[in-house]
Amino acid sequence: MTFNLISNIESCFIAVRDTVPISLVYYSHIPTAIISLMVGFFVFFKSKRSLLGAILLAIAIDFSLWTFIDIILWTSYDSRSYMFFWDITLIFEPLLFILALYLIYVFTDKKDVSVKIKLIWFFLLLPFIAIIASSYYLTGFSIVDCVPIESSFYQGYALPFYGLIYIWILILSIRKYLKIEKERRKQLVFLFCGVSVLLILFLSGKILADYFIDKEIMTPTESYEFEFYGLFGMPIFIGFIAYIIVKFKAFDIKLIGAQALVYSLIILVGSQFFFIQNNTNRILTAVTLALTIGFGIYLIKSVKNEVKRKEELQDMADKLAAANDQLRKLDNAKSEFISIASHQLRTPLTAIKGFISLLMEGTYGAVEPKINDVLNKVYVANERLIQLVENLLNISRIEAGRIEYRFEKTKIEAVMHELEDTFALAAKEKKLYLHFKYPEKELGEIEMDSGKIREVTSNLIDNGLKYSKKGGVTVTLDGDNEKVKVIVSDTGIGIPEEEISYLFAKFSRGKDVSRLHVGGTGLGLYVGKSIIEAHHGKIWAESDGEGKGSRFIFEIPIVQPVG
Ligand code: ADP
Repeated sequence: MTFNLISNIESCFIAVRDTVPISLVYYSHIPTAIISLMVGFFVFFKSKRSLLGAILLAIAIDFSLWTFIDIILWTSYDSRSYMFFWDITLIFEPLLFILALYLIYVFTDKKDVSVKIKLIWFFLLLPFIAIIASSYYLTGFSIVDCVPIESSFYQGYALPFYGLIYIWILILSIRKYLKIEKERRKQLVFLFCGVSVLLILFLSGKILADYFIDKEIMTPTESYEFEFYGLFGMPIFIGFIAYIIVKFKAFDIKLIGAQALVYSLIILVGSQFFFIQNNTNRILTAVTLALTIGFGIYLIKSVKNEVKRKEELQDMADKLAAANDQLRKLDNAKSEFISIASHQLRTPLTAIKGFISLLMEGTYGAVEPKINDVLNKVYVANERLIQLVENLLNISRIEAGRIEYRFEKTKIEAVMHELEDTFALAAKEKKLYLHFKYPEKELGEIEMDSGKIREVTSNLIDNGLKYSKKGGVTVTLDGDNEKVKVIVSDTGIGIPEEEISYLFAKFSRGKDVSRLHVGGTGLGLYVGKSIIEAHHGKIWAESDGEGKGSRFIFEIPIVQPVG
């Protein structure tokens, strides 16, 4: 370096060189600026150029420009260029404060700030812009201290400005904290802390160092180091804020994290070349750098793959959810259809049942035994149809969650007697017996929906008769102080063991039953199960095997539990 007498100050060069190794200046400035910029760009592009990402990028650019100019200040000994660059750094500090405030606004409001606020910011920044490159800011150069002489602008306007913006940030954060949803509050606290440290670190070189020197807490040399460590913290805090934005935006932090880590390592290792003096260290650093690059690329690749797989999985899950939704809609439409159709079917069937009863009772004149026989058959078939329609209606009600229960204290014996009458004819028709066994001591009143319990039992008896060719059906009523038990056993086809578990599912039928040419839908047991469960009871099937008959048993509590 050559020094001239007019503008180059050799004494300053020597003073700085003696206090701070120049390599430390590079080491603290270049990687930090590059890392901050990288984080800024990453977030900006990954957040699909969101406004938040753009503000963070602006913060990173602002910081990096300031850093690069600071390097020039540390390495330039030309007082004119020194004055020039010192002058323009004036704009970066207030800009960073405004950007930090902007960041908090956009983060909490999820939208851009109003033009009014932007105008206020502009007017607040105006004095900085106006004073740059004028003698109102830097009035001269002190050869003794090796720094430009500042006017009172810094103390008089810049410092109060920083104070004002920081208080603005503080009040805004508190006000928004009280308004936003709970889960974002933590993020706001993090963001506020991140922004606070960022601003403090940024000013640490100037305000804090000045203050510490002033109060004799630090010597000027210590204050230089303090500034450098402050710079090391910068990318960490930019990364920290980036993390919050990324998390808030919910894109993959893992990949960005891995990329940021790898690139930072590469830059940090690479930047050592700036101050390594001997060849052995150069070779060692080169090897470390090569390894870092190799492993780094591998790490990024594997994280990328993982993210891709996760995205594919997510995609599939989304598609599945959509398909499921479609199916649910179809299912609802089907239930609605069944419900309407069944209502229409029930009315004529009830009319048929009424007229046949009247015919058989001889209301329309005496009926020949041969015709009475036929009427019997029509009656039984009609009963089955009514049962089927009732089941279909129940299904649609269960699925729409509209099934209603009217719990009343009723004697269960009365329900059984009714069923005895209803099924006597059908059993006789098939030449099967139908026995009812009652406990010696009457069970008393049970809290239940008697209509629904009749329906369940009726379905079990109907099945017993339907699936038996000879023998018959026995209905046993039993119970104690807590519950009643109804057992419907038959001497029919029985149930293979592997079928027992799924008989109670919707539309499920035994694999052999269709061969028997017995009508059915596979709905009766499903409806029965939901009715019994609504009574806080349980229902199950037992069989000793194929051809050995079956037992269908249900239990319900005498008193329904409250709630
Ligand atoms: P459906 O009788 O209309 O097929 P259910 O839901 O009442 O429908 O019964 C489901 C299945 O359970 C029947 O298809 C049959 O395989 C079996 N099942 C029900 N009751 C008996 C029984 N008493 N004996 C043998 N199998 C039975």
